[in-house]
Amino acid sequence: MLELELNAAVKKQVKGHQYYVFPSPATHSNYVGRPTKYPDQKILQVYGGKGSNGKAKLHPDVLAPADFLMTALLKYGEHIDDWSMRSAVIQSGWRPDDASQGREYLRILKLIMSRDKAFAGIVFPASLEEEAQSELGGPGNPRLKTFMKHVAESPGWTQALADSLFRQLHLAYAPRGFNPHATGFVFDLNFSVYFPNGSERSLDADTSLNRYALQSAAGMWLNKYAMTFCFDSYDTRIEVWHQEYRNCGPPSIPAAKIPFTA
Ligand SMILES: [Zn+2]
Repeated sequence: MLELELNAAVKKQVKGHQYYVFPSPATHSNYVGRPTKYPDQKILQVYGGKGSNGKAKLHPDVLAPADFLMTALLKYGEHIDDWSMRSAVIQSGWRPDDASQGREYLRILKLIMSRDKAFAGIVFPASLEEEAQSELGGPGNPRLKTFMKHVAESPGWTQALADSLFRQLHLAYAPRGFNPHATGFVFDLNFSVYFPNGSERSLDADTSLNRYALQSAAGMWLNKYAMTFCFDSYDTRIEVWHQEYRNCGPPSIPAAKIPFTA
């Protein structure tokens, strides 16, 4: 239970660190019961359980479940001697949903347009820049829908172009007013992965490294077992390290039955 098919992996060594590298696994998305409520900042606490970096702040209700998940992950990593698992820490938890999120949303929107040839010769309307940075909220929010409509109706734009832009943008970044990290129930793990040129890399939430994260023991284990601990990513194809507490009640497996927990 909660083990990996080690026979399917190849072992790699980097500077005394051992890594299991697996074939790319099937991924999944999970949008059920995502945390959305922003707490009073005063109640947040620094996570001090297993795999703490001494900085990440979380909602008090998620401290014990996070420790349960991290204990199981780190113990199994020690058992199989895999550095992706043994190096895992909760890197960042709570982050504010402030004006910086709106600025970043607009920056990434423009970056996507600059990289996709479909937008050659099309400009993002200056008159919509303020709206882009406002509290648009999450999927289905009327303010977000109105903003997307304004873009589609701008001179030089079509509905298809706007759809393409927002499909790409919302996979990469959330508008202001919808930030799972601002709930305190969400954290990003950081861990080292084997890189194909024979080196090792720290993920640091870089989505371009997610494919390597998925093939690592830590990523394989999270992709398969995080929900056993009531955590999941919204989409492991994008960020397998991003874990949201889904408050699905007590863990589906009692602690005593999970191997490698202390
Ligand atoms: Zn995250």
